[in-house]
Amino acid sequence: MAHDSTHDPEALLQDALARVATANDADALRALDREFLQKGGVVASILASIPNLPPEKRKETGQRANQLKVAIEAALLEKKSALEGASLDAERAGGDFDATLPAAREARGSLHPITQVTRELEDLFTSMGYTVLDGPEVELDWYNFEALNIPKDHPARDSQDTFYCDKDGKVVLRTHTSPVQVRAMERIKPPFRAIVPGKVFRQESTDASHEHTFHQMEGLVVGKDVSVGHLIGAMKTLLRGVFGRDIEVRLRPGYFPFVEPGFELDARCPFCKSGCSVCKQSTWIELLPCGMVHPNVLKSGGIDPEEWSGFAFGLGLSRLVMLRTKIDDVRHLLSGDLRFLEQF
Ligand SMILES: [Zn+2]
Repeated sequence: MAHDSTHDPEALLQDALARVATANDADALRALDREFLQKGGVVASILASIPNLPPEKRKETGQRANQLKVAIEAALLEKKSALEGASLDAERAGGDFDATLPAAREARGSLHPITQVTRELEDLFTSMGYTVLDGPEVELDWYNFEALNIPKDHPARDSQDTFYCDKDGKVVLRTHTSPVQVRAMERIKPPFRAIVPGKVFRQESTDASHEHTFHQMEGLVVGKDVSVGHLIGAMKTLLRGVFGRDIEVRLRPGYFPFVEPGFELDARCPFCKSGCSVCKQSTWIELLPCGMVHPNVLKSGGIDPEEWSGFAFGLGLSRLVMLRTKIDDVRHLLSGDLRFLEQF
């Protein structure tokens, strides 16, 4: 129906109300909404005509257009709720409606297995006096490498492994949680104990045991006369917390530029007594690199290595979650696949 914008507003309103009253479904209401209220509709064209009117008529015409809009909106809304009520009544009156059926169950999420283990470890370590720290995932080369005793030409810095974020190679996606070591030393006066759970990134082709994004948890303790004995004690407590019982551990020498001496800590396979696929028949599982903080790293953080010592460890959180939940492919963890996630 065409409307002349000079049409009497009262007649327009009566026309609109009559048609709202006889509309018998939501589509009809939407059509009326478009015709009268939306962009290019009747009300809009009245408003658009105002600049062409004699000045003394402009104010009144504007007011009337707005009254028209408000009245039609109200009528549409009222009719819409009446139609909905009627359709509900019809459904209830039909034979299919059973008020005693249980309501459809609301789908509820659960915590990701990595979040679950992270929270457990945070509880465990805070109960031992550790602080939980955080650090940037986009990190300066200085904190990720240089301050950790890994200079530019060091063989431990395989450029293939790193996502560089700028062309000068000064900004990287952190390849481990270790950059928070020096950040922590800069901020906190020793003695202190801290853990740093978080995401880390490696530029690599993915397979069942490699993923470009995974989770680690750094641990750092700085104090007077901190020794390898303290390190082993803390690792045993960690494993007891994770697996719910005492787990035998062994230390092997390992080389990492930011610790001296450095170790690989292996745990007795929690799944078998005489060898299984998880431990590759060896009954030992490589769990985490650790060691005494290198004096150069303490110096990078402004701490005097003559006065203070410390230990650090880098727990593979993703790996630990895989061990505990017997997940055989690391790529499941960040796949976002609900069929996987709903199992936890
Ligand atoms: Zn085993």
